[in-house]
Formats: sequence, structure tokens, C-alpha cells
Amino acid sequence: MNYFSSDFKLGILGGGQLGKMLLFDTRKFDIQTYVLDPSDEAPCKIACNQFFKGDLMDFETVYNFGKKVDVLTFEIELVNLEALVKLEEEGVKVYPSPKTLKLIQNKGIQKDFYIQHAIPTANYKRFENLKSLIVDILDSKTKLPFVWKCTEFGYDGNGVKVIRQISDLDNLANVECIAEEMVPFKNELAVIVCRNPSGEIKTYPVVEMEFHPEANQVEYVICPARIDEKVAEKARAIALNVSKMFNHVGLLAVEMFQTEDDEILVNEVAPRPHNSGHYSIEASYTSQFENHLRAILNLPLGNTDSKVAGIMVNLSGEEGFSGDVVYQNIEKILGWNGVTPHIYGKKQTRPFRKMGHVTIVNQDINEARRIAEDVKNTIRVIS
Ligand code: ADP
Repeated sequence: MNYFSSDFKLGILGGGQLGKMLLFDTRKFDIQTYVLDPSDEAPCKIACNQFFKGDLMDFETVYNFGKKVDVLTFEIELVNLEALVKLEEEGVKVYPSPKTLKLIQNKGIQKDFYIQHAIPTANYKRFENLKSLIVDILDSKTKLPFVWKCTEFGYDGNGVKVIRQISDLDNLANVECIAEEMVPFKNELAVIVCRNPSGEIKTYPVVEMEFHPEANQVEYVICPARIDEKVAEKARAIALNVSKMFNHVGLLAVEMFQTEDDEILVNEVAPRPHNSGHYSIEASYTSQFENHLRAILNLPLGNTDSKVAGIMVNLSGEEGFSGDVVYQNIEKILGWNGVTPHIYGKKQTRPFRKMGHVTIVNQDINEARRIAEDVKNTIRVIS
């Protein structure tokens, strides 16, 4: 298949920042793209060849969109699965495959998959709804504290809550959920695996994620993780194994916990470009976005090594501000060494909404971390 400067069309479900960053690379290779997103103001709109407005969870909309393209991918997991299955049956190449997506869309099914494939993960129990979980706690079968997770439609930590006392369950929705053992972890790590249909497979270096204590969102991603080489090797090997078990095509971001005694437990995976790989645009030989594209088109994969240490700072909407976004002090940080801001193009800010990120590259990772903190304290995303 000739992808370059041809009639070939890549369809992308979702028009957010991940799609927008993927479009830098489709532009670089002159590959035609169609994007479907429910919002008229989707960040992808300015960079794709054709934009379609529509509901990603609606069967007809996704099916009809898929019929227009040669290869279909997604930048968000909340898409209509039945439509993807039908499109695949009818010969459209869908990567990552609907089979993988089905295993991932529901956290209960995802956790069962890890157990079935002997992949280390925190202990958990599945519940049909909140009521049955409460009965289990009252029967002393589920012990406090634990981590409550709704199995579907949660993202960026909004479907996750630490339960220390039964009243912490008070305002939670009565939906399917899991109760997961609390892991006293030293570090949260992630490894992005890249695999093409021919079976070529590569991993990016292990990164370390530092979280905002309140919003449960990543604040800093640090590459390489400042951990023991043996632990890093173990994390990479586990991530590779997870990708092979899923028989995955495209990128698979594997999020993990490093426990106090250096055990690695898989938390969850995302079958797409991931926040933990944004640093790769500036710091790697081949960015995660370019490698996602290479993988789903069954092209040779690019080098996943880093050229330099990279740190990413998320730019989230500041608390107390909602409305037309203003990025304060961007000019200031642009004057600093190795600092590149990415502005996603969302017109409206609200508390904790991901509005952009900044990458800091430096030969010295400690210097990069210091600059990253200055960036964090200098930029404000307000209205
Ligand atoms: P999401 O899908 O919203 O990203 P995660 O399952 O990744 O949800 O959980 C969000 C965050 O909550 C994690 O990054 C971690 O900081 C914390 N967390 C999740 N599960 C556990 C656990 N079992 N023990 C301790 N902390 C956890």
C-alpha cells in the first residue's frame, strides 16, 4: 500500500490533543487524515484533511465514518465498540483491534485478563454495583482501606477514590466497580510499547510519573525514571509481556506501581499515545506519535531511545477559573533553556482540564527537574 502523497486515508476517532499531535506526523509524511469528534472546537480540526462532527459512541456515526477510510485508529477509548467490530469484519483495518479495546474498556475485565495471563497486579474484587460492595464490606469480606474504581467511563482519576471509611462511599454512583487493594508504592512508572502487525516490537524507556495529590492527574513525567537499572529492566520486560499477551498493534502504554520491595504491579494500560510519552516529541529519536503511525501502517518502527533527558509538565486549568483560556507567562518560560510549550487549542478552561504541556530537555536530568518546577510555578492557565 502506498500511504505517502496518495489517496490512502487514515481515520482517527477523537479529535483531542492526542490526535492533534499525531497529525504533526501525518503531515510530515503527507498522509491523508479524516477525524471524527463531537465538538466543533476539537483541537484536530485545524490539522486534519477532513473533519466530521459526530458522536463517538453512536453506532451509525462511527460505522459510516469508518467506511470512508482505509485504516482506522482512535485517540480515545470511549468509542462505539460494535461499530469497530463490524468494520473489521467488513475489511477495514482497525488498529488497535476492537478485541484489545474490549478487554480494556472495562477495568474489571482488564484485571481478570492480567490474572488469566499471570501478569502481576494488585488484588481486587469485582462488584455489579455499589450496593453489593457495601454488603460485602458490612459482611467484613472487603476490608478497609481500599481503592474504589468504577469499571467504565472513568478517566484521569475521576473514577477512582481511596475508601478509608464507609462514608467515603456516600456520593459515589451505584455503578459496576472494583475494590482494589491499596498499594503502598514508591513510584508510579510507565512503559510505552510499540508493535506493528508483522510483530516488530520496541519499548520506550521507563518513565516516572509524579501525581497531583488532589486531582489524581500526572504533574510531571520524568524520562528516564530515576530508578535502579534492574527494576527498570523488570518493568520493561513486564510491559513487553503485557503487549504480547494482548497481541497488540500500535502503542500500548503500561502503567505500573513500583512497590516498597521493588515488585512491579501492572495498574492499567492505554492502547494509544499516552500522556507519559509526550516528552518523546523533543527527547526521543522517534516520538510516540510517529511510532504509533508507523506501527498501525505496518512500517518499520523508529528508534525509541532518548537523545537527552526529558521532563513533561502538564498544563491543567487552574482551580477557580472557568471560561476563555489565558496562558500567563508563556513568553517568560520560552526564554529558558530547552523549554517547549504545547498548547492544545481548547478554547475553554476549567479546573484540572488538560490544556497543554511543556517539555523540558537537558543533558542533566536534575537540572531538567529543577527547570520543570520553575515552569510549573511560573505558568498559569486561567480565564
Ligand atoms: P485512571 O484510569 O483514572 O487513570 P488509575 O487506575 O490509573 O485511574 O488510578 C489513578 C491514580 O490513583 C493512580 O495513578 C494512582 O496514583 C492511584 N491508584 C490507583 N490504584 C491504586 C492502588 N491500588 N493503590 C494505590 N493507589 C492507586
